[in-house]
Amino acid sequence: MSPKNVFIKTYGCQMNVYDTQRMLKSLSSHYQMTEDIEAADVVLFNTCSVREKAEHKIMSALGELKPLKKKKPYLVVGVGGCVATQNADKLLKKVPHLDLVFGVDQIEDLPQLIHNAKNGQRKSETSFKQEYSFYAVNSLVENVPKLVSSFVSVIQGCEKPCTFCIVPTTRGFEKSRSHQEVIQEARSLVGAGSCEIVLLGQNVNAYRTKEATFEELVASLDFVPRLRYITSHPNDVSDEMIRIHRDQKNLCEHIHMPIQAGSNRTLKRMVRLYSREEYMDKIKKIREEVSTIAITTDIIVGFPGETDQDFEETLSAIEEAQFDHVFAFKYSPRPGTPSKEKFSDDVPENLKNERLQRVFDVSEKMHLAQNQSYVGKKVEVLVEGPSKNNPKKLTGRTRNNKIVNFIGKNLPDGFKIKNNAKSFVNVVIHDVTPHSLNGCY
Ligand code: SF4
Repeated sequence: MSPKNVFIKTYGCQMNVYDTQRMLKSLSSHYQMTEDIEAADVVLFNTCSVREKAEHKIMSALGELKPLKKKKPYLVVGVGGCVATQNADKLLKKVPHLDLVFGVDQIEDLPQLIHNAKNGQRKSETSFKQEYSFYAVNSLVENVPKLVSSFVSVIQGCEKPCTFCIVPTTRGFEKSRSHQEVIQEARSLVGAGSCEIVLLGQNVNAYRTKEATFEELVASLDFVPRLRYITSHPNDVSDEMIRIHRDQKNLCEHIHMPIQAGSNRTLKRMVRLYSREEYMDKIKKIREEVSTIAITTDIIVGFPGETDQDFEETLSAIEEAQFDHVFAFKYSPRPGTPSKEKFSDDVPENLKNERLQRVFDVSEKMHLAQNQSYVGKKVEVLVEGPSKNNPKKLTGRTRNNKIVNFIGKNLPDGFKIKNNAKSFVNVVIHDVTPHSLNGCY
């Protein structure tokens, strides 16, 4: 019997990208991936509800699917991920052509759930299981391109109390993956050609099993050509981790450590568990040990109760910290979060927009100035493939996560990203933008 086609659309963060790979693995004996939604027998939306905008996108994508479902009544339509966990039965009621709603812990059960849906059982199943079952995803899934850089999920869930965040509700308590499994998957990915492994977790530094702490896990992955991890709650970045950054050669000089706000009043309402001063002390310590490290961050503007003074403090924190990249978002109250229950969303939309723009302006200026210091320098780039905007150029990243677009003047004929030796190149930077470096190999 020829395999059926599954179309999966992924929204949101790297964890969702990873979960899509888990879905493909779970379905791999009966389904092959298609990029043509019209050719699909099963359409799955792997959703994100961290921002309101993402949730709206999913509802409109589901709406657009109505004519296809009418044309192909046997089509199974499913929604997984955060929106699914949050809305479960409500979604089934709201969208009559939706067959299936599943949570992150039901991904391994997908073949059975799809089979049930085909037999007319419209159902939502989003409960959390005690044990999280991780797969050696990337190395085993057929039809998924073997990547130069691969994600390895090491911890699911989060137990921090950040009031704006839906993750503890949608992903549940922290479940760390066994040390041996992580090592095995990393070894098989490196064996298959991956030059970079990115350890994933909502709060990855909270990883802990009977066999290893996060620091010990990182230390045991010294065979990976380039190693990264994301995302870090500042309180969980230990002194030992900072020393490992200094001493372990394959660990890249980059840390993504969201500050979220620069005002202590706002940080308290967010229940981030650190003050601005403590955050600044942490990055000072990190830079004292690893002077070349890039520190990137997330900022939320317009959190409930944010005054002009609070916002000015956020702007001054961005300037004080001299972040290498700032990802900024407008606050939107997410159902089921403590901030939605406790506070009113009292910063007007136009003021949020204005504040967001000011964060962008300050950050871009800062990033441009930082990137200008690279002009004339040679940087090691891990080549990821042709540049999205100009296929005549190649693109890749430096160890400290700067995007580099470059012309491969001296690249050997038939250059392919096949092995480590050919995938790392030294590029001379000749000009820059706030978001990338341009150079020549
Ligand atoms: S640490 Fe990150 S994932 Fe965890 S609750 Fe806070 S914002 Fe959410």
